[in-house]
Amino acid sequence: MDALQFDRRHLWRPYAGMREPGPVHHVVEAEGVWLTLADGARMIDAMSSWWCAAHGHRHPQIVAAMTAQLNRMPHVMFGGLTHDPAIDLGRRLVAMLPEGLDRIFYSDSGSVAVEVALKMALQAQVARGFPARTAFATVRGGYHGDTWKAMSLCDPDTGMHGQYGRALQIEHFVAAPPIPFDADWDEDPARNGLSEVAQLLQAHGERIAAFILEPVVQGAGGMRFYHPAYLTGLRALCDAHGVLLIFDEIATGFGRTGRMFAMDFVNVVPDILCLGKALTGGHITFAATVAHETVAESISAGSPGVLMHGPTFMANPLACAAASASLDLLQGDDWRETVRRIEAQLQTELAPARSLAGVQDVRVLGAIGVIEMKAPLDTSRVHAFAKTSGVFLRPFGRLLYAMPPYVTRPDELTRITTAMLDIAGWSA
Ligand SMILES: *Cc1c(COP(=O)(O)O)cnc(C)c1O
Repeated sequence: MDALQFDRRHLWRPYAGMREPGPVHHVVEAEGVWLTLADGARMIDAMSSWWCAAHGHRHPQIVAAMTAQLNRMPHVMFGGLTHDPAIDLGRRLVAMLPEGLDRIFYSDSGSVAVEVALKMALQAQVARGFPARTAFATVRGGYHGDTWKAMSLCDPDTGMHGQYGRALQIEHFVAAPPIPFDADWDEDPARNGLSEVAQLLQAHGERIAAFILEPVVQGAGGMRFYHPAYLTGLRALCDAHGVLLIFDEIATGFGRTGRMFAMDFVNVVPDILCLGKALTGGHITFAATVAHETVAESISAGSPGVLMHGPTFMANPLACAAASASLDLLQGDDWRETVRRIEAQLQTELAPARSLAGVQDVRVLGAIGVIEMKAPLDTSRVHAFAKTSGVFLRPFGRLLYAMPPYVTRPDELTRITTAMLDIAGWSA
């Protein structure tokens, strides 16, 4: 059995069955924006491998940090032991996060970071004397991961409710924030989405532990950019009703939107923050849940006074070393200029798609470019086109989008946008 036959027969692929898992490209090497295939063909990773490889693949500084750590100590347990990689990364995160948002729980993936955030919220509420606050609220169009509780908070239509609906606990959903990022903010709560939140919290607030959402950019749930002022109103409503606010910045963190964090578009500090994906520059799986000191204090002062979570690979030194090296690459302001340049080029070069028959909308924010079609894309055709165009794109539903690594050069970015326009053209 050759390699691809074996792969097809024995290896599950993401969101796929084993009968028709769909075509795959066989990658043997990745460097910078380029993926090299087994047959020697090369293509640009326009997805940053699912938002992660912000600095490109195999970045020399990240590889050097990981190699040094690998030669010293790839892993030790975090119970009863600590190490410099965990401490050094913690210092960097505390320095870049808003004051008070500084109690860090390391874990191994984004979904787990979300689970930890939900457990923190629940425990803080119990400790504060609100054991009836066991439900969660969120907006439609969101994505928070594939583990059990996280998936119950994904968009009920584009998420996993269809398959697992009866096994999922029903949570509270309000409409996705209706005002787009670049539209004028409307103070009327009936039109800006906040009256629905207010009604929900009035009716059920006393049973809700926390409200979770992705600030400003809704990623895998629909690639929507909404007005940051929504977060200010939401923060006030949560405070008024004793509901904790969780920001899931797993996709948006570390410069992707043009700000270091999407929450930086407004001065809103969540009670709990989830980080992942680009945290290690996409070099190794890792995530963090950061609690505000007030949340950490509540949990720790309550009974039993401990957060009941502790992954085997918590604070993995190799991942911490990769994350510190990746964050060092975001020192200074160069990345801001880079993301601004990518944003401007995406704006200019994707604009012609607006006049194509099959295109519903074109939108760009930071280093994220989206062409929303009127009908679902032919994903197999897009997949095959990657070989011809030299650009790897992986659309879902009606959404064709790119999140190029920040190291993408202007001519490489033009290849990406050209491929996107081609696809949007023949998908009309
Ligand atoms: C990807 C993602 C997750 C889940 O992260 P995994 O590492 O895949 O478990 C959670 N929330 C958001 C916003 C994401 O984009």
